[in-house]
Amino acid sequence: MKIYNTLSKKKEEFVPIEEGKVRMYVCGPTVYNLIHIGNARPMIVFDTVRRYMEHKGYEVNYVSNFTDVDDKIIKKAIEEGVEAGVISQRYIEECKKDMEAMNVKPATTHPLATDEIGGMLEMIQTLEKKGYAYKAADGTVYFRTRNFKEYGKLSHKNLDDLQGGNRSLLVSGEDQKEDSLDFVLWKPKKEGEPYWESPWCNGRPGWHIECSVMSKRYLGDEIDIHAGGEDLVFPHHENEIAQSEAANGKPFARYWMHNAFLNIDNRKMSKSAGNFFTVRDIGEKYDLQILRFFMLSAHYRSPLNFSGELMEAAKSGYERIVTSVGNLNYLLKNGLPDSMCGNEEALLKELEGFCVKFDEAMDDDFNTADAISSIFELVKFANTYAGEGSSAPFVRAVKEKIVELSDICGLKVEKEEELLDGEIEKLIGERQAARKAKNFARADEIRDELLNKGILLEDTREGVKWKRV
Ligand code: AMP
Ligand code: ZN
Repeated sequence: MKIYNTLSKKKEEFVPIEEGKVRMYVCGPTVYNLIHIGNARPMIVFDTVRRYMEHKGYEVNYVSNFTDVDDKIIKKAIEEGVEAGVISQRYIEECKKDMEAMNVKPATTHPLATDEIGGMLEMIQTLEKKGYAYKAADGTVYFRTRNFKEYGKLSHKNLDDLQGGNRSLLVSGEDQKEDSLDFVLWKPKKEGEPYWESPWCNGRPGWHIECSVMSKRYLGDEIDIHAGGEDLVFPHHENEIAQSEAANGKPFARYWMHNAFLNIDNRKMSKSAGNFFTVRDIGEKYDLQILRFFMLSAHYRSPLNFSGELMEAAKSGYERIVTSVGNLNYLLKNGLPDSMCGNEEALLKELEGFCVKFDEAMDDDFNTADAISSIFELVKFANTYAGEGSSAPFVRAVKEKIVELSDICGLKVEKEEELLDGEIEKLIGERQAARKAKNFARADEIRDELLNKGILLEDTREGVKWKRV
């Protein structure tokens, strides 16, 4: 399996630190609002990486944080007159709902920055002892960037270019730094802001130290994969490397993966530019499986332009797979012969070929666009060869392959079957009989079971009526 590593700018063979295991950290969102579909891109992409690794037999320890202390969260809390924690908790809950609807698996651990302050104080103290951190007059603690000789190795930037670039960006308070390249590890509190005690001043951590510490705590000093959107390469990930490697004295992450932007009119979708759609907005119009399909129809390192037409194309592509699986299920329900017939054995060998192609595409730096093409080939194969003259084992094998490969991409393509009218009437009859026998528990159970399948019962004077909801 090859992964493009931002560090070497090359595709490299994936070799885990510990055989059979993957330690992976993905920078999560800052929770002050509903997530937009730009934020959804890394969630979907790296969830697919994780699913593929699991399909390959790796045990994946997947850690993704929520940044729950930040200027924007504090600003919103002040506007609403509530504690910052109320805002972050609210949007963590909302984000988890969006993730579920996009079929993004919960991480093994979702740490919160505010629960990890102790670890941050420890790491900053270590950096201070090793000469990598210093306190300025107002209590701010900075990282002494020039002491970390490999600074710039991820973003492939030259220190002197950075120095020149940063000088023009000097803002108030920055003049207390020893060097314009130095960045904040700990900052003093401002009136009305959440704060923690520290050896330097009451205050709160800088953003970069949070991820270095959470990654260390849940995955150890050395990890396999560290990932996020490409806007995080510099300065966030560059600074994380400097902090972690300076403090731990070991290489931090072996593979650095970055997804390209989701754009609108070829401009990055972002809250600040105001050119965004939330996942919720899209969910009102489309099943979010279609959004997932849309994201995976491009390679994760290629920019992706969002448009109504592309979403419609994604909808018809996704539905083509769902319809094919529905047809195969229909065939299976109608009683097919139990033993393989004709050239089905040979055809099943052909089926394996599509799976090999799927794996080859994914092994090549997660080329989901090509992987989805092999699912389409499989669908075409199903539509050509599986029919009323087929055997049950053949049709089942074809269906299972389509479902399995789609599932590796996190795409749910097997829809729950709708209950037929006759089946509903039968269950209502059973419920009436249970009531007569005073078995109310069973009667309620049937009502709930029907409700779960979208059937609402109404007890009226004329008898039981039902409707689909
Ligand atoms: P943020 O909440 O801005 O820190 O972003 C959370 C994650 O979403 C990070 O990995 C960002 O790189 C990523 N991200 C934000 N906007 C976009 C976008 N338009 N396209 C792709 N990824 C994005
Ligand atoms: Zn991070």
